[in-house]
Amino acid sequence: MLLRARIVLPISAPPIEDGVVLIQDGRIAEVGRSRDIELAGPEEVLDLGEVILLPGLVNAHCHLDYSAMAGRISPPREFLDWIEAIIAYKASWDYSDFAHSWVSGAGQLLKNGVTTVADMEAVPELIPECQPATPLRIHAFMELINLRKRSPGALMVEEAERTLLGHLNPRGGYGLAPHALYTASPDLLQAASVCAQSNDWPLSIHVAESRIEAEMFRDGRGLMFDWLRKNQRDMSDCGRHSPVAILEQLGLLSNHLLAVHCNYLEPGDAELLGKNQCTVVHCPQSHAYFGHADFQARELAAVGVNLCLGTDSLASTRKQRGMNPELSLYDEMRVFADNHPDFSPEEILPMATIHGALALRRANQIGEIAGRALADLQTIPYSGPLEAATQFVVHETIHSSRVMIGGHWVNPLSAAAQ
Ligand SMILES: [Zn+2]
Repeated sequence: MLLRARIVLPISAPPIEDGVVLIQDGRIAEVGRSRDIELAGPEEVLDLGEVILLPGLVNAHCHLDYSAMAGRISPPREFLDWIEAIIAYKASWDYSDFAHSWVSGAGQLLKNGVTTVADMEAVPELIPECQPATPLRIHAFMELINLRKRSPGALMVEEAERTLLGHLNPRGGYGLAPHALYTASPDLLQAASVCAQSNDWPLSIHVAESRIEAEMFRDGRGLMFDWLRKNQRDMSDCGRHSPVAILEQLGLLSNHLLAVHCNYLEPGDAELLGKNQCTVVHCPQSHAYFGHADFQARELAAVGVNLCLGTDSLASTRKQRGMNPELSLYDEMRVFADNHPDFSPEEILPMATIHGALALRRANQIGEIAGRALADLQTIPYSGPLEAATQFVVHETIHSSRVMIGGHWVNPLSAAAQ
């Protein structure tokens, strides 16, 4: 199949006017200007017209199973209030609530041009039931929590590995997600890291998300410290180091790590993350909902951190003009661009495409239009000039008009209605 579009944005190469993309066996065989590509055979040619053709986006952090909580929890005064609210909310849900929520979130991502998502799976029973309901590439990260050390970390990780490998997931991939330093014991974190390295899986951890988490580890006091001590957590790791420094001591900083949030970094933390080729996933709308301190995007990028964007869950979003928000990396890019005017659109779009691919250990496969990459594509109606195309993608309110995964069109409108 040969696709022709007025503008093609390969991401890993400059924009192309009057571009064509040749697709064979679900992969991209060739990309270039229409006048430069010679057709060898009777390819089916589809002229997409006045559109930007770009790769499907890569969402580096999501909790699909909380999608139906959109706009239900008002922005809290303290992060701890939100944790208590979501625990109560989850306790009031049954399995079908989580399943419905998961599938509707997947539909929203597809409608908004995401073709691969790193999804934190808090309810692993959903994986075999829900994954077949979406054409999305799901990278299923098993969430691991052992707050009171009741379960040995190594056993939990063995079970998670068995569960993940027991499910066929040919389009997507696997990962482990010890929830956070304050909810996963050191032995669990280390066992998860060893398992991720040996399977070449990514490892996702919420790191330094809130001011009270940073305060607990650094100073050994504060609201989170008191709350967790009351909940029988072993607090002997508190009062000395930042969360990033603790991760380094545990040997967890590597190019397998997706350190999610990193809103409260101490001096030296960014350099440690950069030196170890870590990924940091920033979730701009969740960040705004909690009113966190300014995200240190430029500092992290400058030291070589692989910066990605994620939607996080809709449980940390507020209603917008009375409407529930949707999972959309376009919205995340727009909010990021508004908050970081020193980043150009050409720096921001890779954070939602090729940087995510690198984080998920799928570089050269997804997030770009290049030879041998998977044919995960989307179109956006656009009639402006070539040089403003990337700016349009990053700054405008966008819905994809067509989405393709592995060479097959998937209808984003019917997906959204699920
Ligand atoms: Zn999260």
